[in-house]
Order: sequence, then C-alpha cells, then structure tokens
Amino acid sequence: MDTSITFASLGLAEPLLRAVHEAGYTHPTPIQAQAIPRVLEGGDLLAAAQTGTGKTAGFTLPILHYLLSHPATPRPGRPRVLVLTPTRELTAQVEESVRLYGKHTSVRSMVMFGGVNINPQIAALKKPLDILVATPGRLLDHAQQKTLDLSGVEILVLDEADRMLDMGFIHDIRRVLKLLPAKRQNLLFSATFSDEIRVLAQGILRNPGEVSVARRNTASELVSQRVVMTDQAHKRDLLSHIIRESGWHQVLVFTRTKHGANRLAEKLSKDGLTAAAIHGNKSQAARTKALAGFKDGKVAVLVATDIAARGLDIDQLPQVVNFELPNVPEDYVHRIGRTGRAGSTGSALSLVDSSEVKLLRAIERLIKQTIEPISVEGWNPSAMVTADSAPDAREKRAIARLQGDFVGGRGDGGRRNDGGRRDAPGRDGRRPASPSASGSNDRRSGPDARRSGGGRAPGGRPTREGSAPQAPRRDARPASPGRSALLRKD
Ligand code: AMP
Repeated sequence: MDTSITFASLGLAEPLLRAVHEAGYTHPTPIQAQAIPRVLEGGDLLAAAQTGTGKTAGFTLPILHYLLSHPATPRPGRPRVLVLTPTRELTAQVEESVRLYGKHTSVRSMVMFGGVNINPQIAALKKPLDILVATPGRLLDHAQQKTLDLSGVEILVLDEADRMLDMGFIHDIRRVLKLLPAKRQNLLFSATFSDEIRVLAQGILRNPGEVSVARRNTASELVSQRVVMTDQAHKRDLLSHIIRESGWHQVLVFTRTKHGANRLAEKLSKDGLTAAAIHGNKSQAARTKALAGFKDGKVAVLVATDIAARGLDIDQLPQVVNFELPNVPEDYVHRIGRTGRAGSTGSALSLVDSSEVKLLRAIERLIKQTIEPISVEGWNPSAMVTADSAPDAREKRAIARLQGDFVGGRGDGGRRNDGGRRDAPGRDGRRPASPSASGSNDRRSGPDARRSGGGRAPGGRPTREGSAPQAPRRDARPASPGRSALLRKD
C-alpha cells in the first residue's frame, strides 16, 4: 500500500473523511487510491476488483462527494445515483456502506431487491432519495409500476458485473439502461475482465479509465488445497465424518444445487452438527439468521450455493469445502478465496467423484497447480453408508442433468432444458459447463476407488450389508493434535 496517499490527499469532503476515520481506515486501499480520483474527475470507469479489496468505498466515497458538491433537492422516487448489484446480500451491504460513509451527510439511500414484499419499498419511494441500490429484476418491477423514476440518474454503478452476467441479468440490465438518461457517468466493477465484460463495457462506458487491482487471494499458497476422491453417494457421510472428527467449527460448504444444500444441512444437523443452508429459495429472514449464526459461531457449518455465497460478507474462514466442484473453474477460485485472506492460512477441501475429474483437471490448469489428493483416516464408506447416503429421485435427476453437462451430452433423458443454447443460464442462474470441461473420466484414483471395492452392488453403489448407522453426536469436538492426521497425504 502506498502510504503517501491519504483519503485527505484524494480531496474528499470533510464529512466523508470523518466517517472514514471513524471506520478505522488509515489509508485508501489500492483500488480506492486508483478509482476515487477518476470518479471525482467525472469520467467513466472500468475497474477490476473483487469483494474484499475495498471496492465499495472506491465508488461510494466519490459518489457521496459528488452529491455534496453538486447539491440538488432530492425528489421522491427519483434517485440521482443507481447502483445495480447481482444479489440481495450485496445490495444490503453496499447500502450499509453508503450509510456508513455518508453518516455525517444528509444523503438519502435505499435498497431494493426481490423476494420480499414490494409495498414497503413503494412506501419508501415516496420519500426523497439520492442513492438507490438495487437488483435489476425488482428495479424493473418498480419502473413498470411507475413507482420509480430513473430519468434523473446522473451516475450508474454496475457492481460485480461479471456475476450479473453469470446470473443471466444481461437482458434486465439492457432494459434498465433504456430507462436512464443518455448523459450520465458510468462505473463498472467486475472481478475479472472477461470478453463478455469487455463487450458490456463497450456498450455502456465512454472512454473509460481502467483500473485493476490484483486479487487479494487467488489460489494462493496461503490456502492449502486438497481433494478427496469419493462417490457422490458417500459425500454426505464422508463430510459429516470429516467435520466431526476434525472438530472444524466454522466451515463454508459449497453445493451446486439448492436441494443439495438443504439435504446436506439436514444430514449434518441429524449427525449433531449445527448446520444451516443458504440459497435463493430461502427467505431473506432465514438467510440473515443463518449468516448471523455462522458469523457469531452458533452455526458451525454453512451450506451455500455459489450464488447465495456471492456477496456475503464472510471471508477469512478457516475452512472451505467444495461438496461438488463448480462447473466454471473460476468459481473454484472465488470459493477458496473465502479462506486464507489477509495473511491468515486457510484450507480448502474438495470432494470429487469420478464424473468430476475433468472439472478438477480444468481447475488445476487454471490455477496452474496440482491439488493434493488425500485420504481420510478411519473412513470406510461401505461401513458408514446409511439410508441418507442414497440420492433421492429428485437428486438422481439433478445428478444426471449435471453429468450430462460435464460430458456435453444430455443427461436429462435426452431433453435439453436450455432451449439448445450452450450459454443459457441453468436453474441456479449459472451457465452450463463449457464444452472444454467435457468428457467423463472414470479413472478412479483416490482412496475411495481402492477401498470401496468390497461391499458394492454391480451398479457401483454401496450395498447396505454391514452398514452401521452412526451414533449422532451433539457436539462438534474441538480439534486435537491427534486428529490433525485425519486427512492424510495420499
Ligand atoms: P469491499 O471490497 O468493498 O467489500 O470491502 C471489504 C472490507 O474492507 C470491508 O469490510 C470494508 O469495511 C473494509 N475496508 C474498505 N476500505 C478500507 C480501508 N481503506 N482500510 C481498511 N479497511 C477497509
């Protein structure tokens, strides 16, 4: 960090300097040092920065400064600044930042997102408004109902634009753009500058300044990355075993599907762990409760889909688990970036079955390193299997669909549910796997492949003979030195 640059030297107004000081920030982060001057100049901006870099203050502070230095009487339902974000959580976080940095000003802000009753938002829009932070869908609902007037927007921010594209919001974004005045300042923040982001930026930004800060943590050496090979059917039991035996007390687990997240959280709870699932079908209240519990240590295991996890202000976790590998290798980097931040070490464990090996290789190519395969001490899948291990009918269909994605084939009974378009968003709003991550590789190399030979039915599924239901344990025991050998190098 360049310590010669201070918030005062960036020329920010005194009420903002005071708020920043009270927040305990001594110096601007690199993205702030680069972005704030550009935004204050009034030019458009294309910024590559991910959550955790301080990007929110990077656009919020100069926007607040602009509003202070260009006062106008705020009008009900007619914001001067629009911040578009992909998720409710991020929307809430950004607006909290606006309130925090604007606490010594009279700037008024509000959040707007779907999945909650629209009426309180309609009531709030009857009050004067400067900054609106919104997800695109609900914003368009309001625009259609004429409860919101976007003709006065002077500054547009697209926050986490890459994620908005991933989530299939491109059409909504284009519809929103049509409602904005042509003359405005545009700021686009994205974790990466992909080709798609460049195309979007070209359509929106005029002669933008470009700033870019290194990821605080890619697949860095701070994160110890390991993989356990196992069948899909054993994953729930195996993960429960690992968490209980290792005494992990704060672990974020990523699943591909909402249903999978629910099922895993239920299984872990049944085994005596405190676990909660968080995904798009959960109410805002349930998500907030789960997140708060996880942060304050009441919930040891938070199971989340990628989209739900995106925008959550949780990082520096000791442990991240990929219950399934993500279809998009970059998402692996996002996921493990939740751990090992700011100099602390973290650990990322992936449970991989044979159909995911191609994805694993694609991830290894991206991060330019091999993920260490390990075995789990004391884990005997054929003895551990319980009724809970078997996928139910719905899950079997989901697995078949997902595996259809991997092999570029049609796992859904031959039907494509994306209208034949390879780039159509999936059920969770995600794009299907790229054809490059295709082909099933049945070479089973992990411990599970070796150990599960006996006790298997012809279809590769474990038999129930000899299965010993596990005694549920109510406590996640603290890690002891003896247990550190649980996960062993293969
Ligand atoms: P963001 O990337 O905007 O989500 O910010 C990540 C975290 O960094 C937030 O918790 C902020 O409160 C914090 N933060 C932002 N700017 C600074 C700064 N200049 N110094 C220290 N912390 C900061």
